[in-house]
Amino acid sequence: MNPACRATYSVSETLVDCSKCGHLLDIAYDWNRVPLPGSLKQFESRWSSRRNPLDFSGVWRFRELLPFARDEQIVTIGEGQTILQSSAGVGKYAGFQTGKLLLQYEGLNPSGSFKDNGMTAASTHAHMVGAKVAACASTGNTSASLAIYSSTTRLFETIVFIGSGKIAYGKLSQALDYGAKTLQIQGDFDDALKQVRDVCAARGIYLCNSVNPFRLEGQKSIMFRVLEALNWEVPDWIVVPGGNLGNSSAFGKAFFELKELGLIHRIPRLAVINATGSNTLYQLFEQHKIRWNGGKLDEAKINGFFGQMDTDNRRASTLATAIEINRPVNLLKCLRALEVCDGVVREVSDEAILEAKAQIGAGGFGCEPASAAGVAGAKLLREQGVISPSDQVVCILTGHQLKDPTSTVAYHSVDPARLSAIATAEDDAYATMLSKAGVTQTPAANRPIVVENKFESIMALLDRIGC
Ligand SMILES: *Cc1c(COP(=O)(O)O)cnc(C)c1O
Ligand SMILES: [Zn+2]
Repeated sequence: MNPACRATYSVSETLVDCSKCGHLLDIAYDWNRVPLPGSLKQFESRWSSRRNPLDFSGVWRFRELLPFARDEQIVTIGEGQTILQSSAGVGKYAGFQTGKLLLQYEGLNPSGSFKDNGMTAASTHAHMVGAKVAACASTGNTSASLAIYSSTTRLFETIVFIGSGKIAYGKLSQALDYGAKTLQIQGDFDDALKQVRDVCAARGIYLCNSVNPFRLEGQKSIMFRVLEALNWEVPDWIVVPGGNLGNSSAFGKAFFELKELGLIHRIPRLAVINATGSNTLYQLFEQHKIRWNGGKLDEAKINGFFGQMDTDNRRASTLATAIEINRPVNLLKCLRALEVCDGVVREVSDEAILEAKAQIGAGGFGCEPASAAGVAGAKLLREQGVISPSDQVVCILTGHQLKDPTSTVAYHSVDPARLSAIATAEDDAYATMLSKAGVTQTPAANRPIVVENKFESIMALLDRIGC
């Protein structure tokens, strides 16, 4: 990732950062050696051979565009059967003309989040190098994904490192259920990541966090599927929540590679959406104006920013736990993607996230809070006039609704009157949780109605609500 460093490594090595300059590694291909299809349409023809697991996979159907493994080395569990869909209600909510806002629903993956797109690629590489143990640190979804690949394929053992703070129960339940060895570190995600990196280096354990460059290769396929769904027309905007910035980085890489290969002629604009309580990228990009700048970026300024963050002991905090990250590991790659895609970064409050999430739910697509940040961001950019109502916009719904039922139930069931004052909310866990996140109103809530256990009372209630 350091354009000044020309070091290269072979695909059979298991490094995540460059031993010469310390930057993350970036995958590059010699495209002249890859038998590429003449047009993107040819990938679609594989739909007719879905008994072949590689053609069935929504990632490996595009294998010539991530050509680091031989077919027989590929590890797949049928990931990437995800689709681009429209929801009239969500599009209207965010301020778009009919059919202009589309949702790429990655919650349909085997472990319920987009992470499977990357984990199939990391698992493939782990298999290629003969790894017996793999590990990751996680806010939840990475561990669920690694655990499902490990338990399904039995190719390697899995250890997941999680922080002690917030982890959504749906995600923790998956790691435990799939049999991953689960280490709960007394610290937050950033602490867990530091530990797992050191432990993996010391023990030769295969590291599966998004510092692993192969994960990003798999995640490029989310954009391939979006283009495929649009009949290979490039949309105007891609909107994605930003946490460790692996997804946004992968999307930028997908587009610049397709353009370089002459398979597309235009690159969409990219909007990366932070939660206000976890807004490192927003601060660096929009406030401190840090730019990739063709690789000549102001690293001293970035390091100064993180130094100050440590001095002030500023810690990320948001109900969108999947994007609660202090130091996004793929920051530089994301800055490169923002440059390639003429991107913007925005921050949205937890209140806006939960409202968007309820609207997405009412539109028939359950998602977890982090995913809803994308739609909240699209709405904000629409209001700011950055995106026009007639633009074709694709929001990535990164994770399934059932990942984090607690936040959903809290939003819908809490009495809004109790959100105005934290003091009165102390006795109610849900009200406390929302108040702490700065949520003061829940206009999209669908509150359960309490009714007496009596036939007549229920009938009277139904009369009252007109059912
Ligand atoms: C991991 C994750 C994110 C953040 O993605 P990055 O690639 O780390 O920016 C967003 N939403 C969900 C549901 C996730 O699991
Ligand atoms: Zn280097």
